[in-house]
Amino acid sequence: MILGIPTELAADEARVALVPESAGKLVKSGVTVLVQKGAGTRAGFTDEAYTWHGAKLENAETVLTTANLICKVQKPTVSETRMLARGAHLISLLQPSTSTAEIVALESQGVTAFALELVPRITRAQSMDVLSSQATVAGYKAVLVGASALGKFLPMLTTAAGTIAPSKVCVLGAGVAGLQAIATARRLGGIVSAFDIRAAAAEQIRSLGATVVAQELIAQDSETAGGYAKEQSAAQQEAIQAALRDHLKTMDLVITTAQIPGRTAPRLISTATVRTMNPGAVIVDLAAESGGNCEATKAGETVEIAGVKVIGPVNLAASMPTHASQMLSRNILTFVQHLLKDGTLVVDPADEITGAMMVTGKGTR
Ligand code: NAD
Repeated sequence: MILGIPTELAADEARVALVPESAGKLVKSGVTVLVQKGAGTRAGFTDEAYTWHGAKLENAETVLTTANLICKVQKPTVSETRMLARGAHLISLLQPSTSTAEIVALESQGVTAFALELVPRITRAQSMDVLSSQATVAGYKAVLVGASALGKFLPMLTTAAGTIAPSKVCVLGAGVAGLQAIATARRLGGIVSAFDIRAAAAEQIRSLGATVVAQELIAQDSETAGGYAKEQSAAQQEAIQAALRDHLKTMDLVITTAQIPGRTAPRLISTATVRTMNPGAVIVDLAAESGGNCEATKAGETVEIAGVKVIGPVNLAASMPTHASQMLSRNILTFVQHLLKDGTLVVDPADEITGAMMVTGKGTR
C-alpha cells in the first residue's frame, strides 16, 4: 500500500493533507508514504520532519503515478488526475456538486474518489469531519481578522489615559464556526451576542457566556434530523432581518456564519442595515463563498459602505495552515484507518461512512 501526498497547486492553499506525525502513524502500520518535496513547507512542516517519521521524499510525478492512495486538500486538476495510476484511490475536498469536469476525469481514469465534505455527521465519523475542524479554524480566525480591521480594542481597559469601553460583537449563525467565533471574541474581552435559527443553538450560545438576540424568532421546527438549519420562508427571512436591524446598529464587529447546506446562504443583513451602523464598524462574512449573509459582501474582497468595512474572506482556514493542516490530517488519517484492513484498502460502499463519501468508482463495484 503506497500513499502519496502531493504539493497543493492552488496559490491560496497553504495546507497539507497529512502532517509528519500522521504520516509516521501510517508508516508504523506498514504503509509506504511518499511525500512530494516541499509539500508541507507552507504549513510549517519540513521535509526533514517527514523523513524523520519514516516517509520518503519524491518528486510530483513519482508521487502521483505510483501511489494507490492520494491524499490532497483541494481537488486534483484534470491534468493531475490523468497522471494517477488506474484503479488508484483519492481522498480530498471535491466540491462534488460543482466539479463536473474533475469528477468525469476521475471516473474515466478509474479512480475511486472520496469527498471529504461528504463525511456523514454522525458520532462515529466525528473525528473524520473536516467541515467541523476547518470551521473551527475559520470561526477563530474571523474574529482576529475582524478585530484587526477594527479601530478599537475588544476588551474594556482601565488605564491612566482613561477608560476604554469594550467592543460589542454579534455573531450570526451559531454552528461550529459561530460558536468558535463567540468563544474567541469572549476571550478577547468583547461583549458578545448571537443569533441562530435553531433552538438547540440558543443554549450553546448562552453556555459560552453570550446573550441571545431575537429569541422570539427561534423556531422549534427549524432543525433537520441531521442537525442542520432548514431554509426559512421569505416572510421569516424578512422578519429575521427586521429583528436584527436595531441590534446591529450598535455593534462594532459582526461575524456572520449562517449556512444552509447545498443552498445559497440566507440573507441576514441588508445594505440598508449596513448604512445604519457606526462608521468604523466591521462585518466579517464567513458565508461569502456561498452568496454571503450580508447583501454587500463580495467574496475575496473588502467593501466599504458608509465607513463600515464588509470583509468576505475566502478559504480562511488555509490562512492558518499549521493547525488547520494538523486537524485536517487527523481527520484524513482516521478515514484512511477506517478503510485499511490488514494493511490494504478495503472499500465497502455499503458502509455508512465509506458509501456516503464515495463520489466515483461506485459503478465499477
Ligand atoms: P452550517 O455551517 O450549515 O450553518 C452554520 C449555522 O448557521 C448553523 O448553526 C445554522 O443553524 C445557522 N443558520 C442557518 N440559517 C440561518 C438563519 N436563517 N438565521 C440564523 N442562523 C442560521 O452548520 P454547522 O456549523 O456545520 O453545524 C450545524 C449543526 O450540526 C450544529 O448543531 C452542529 O453541532 C452539528 N454538527 C454535528 C456533527 C456530528 O454530530 N458529527 C458534526 C458537526 C456539526
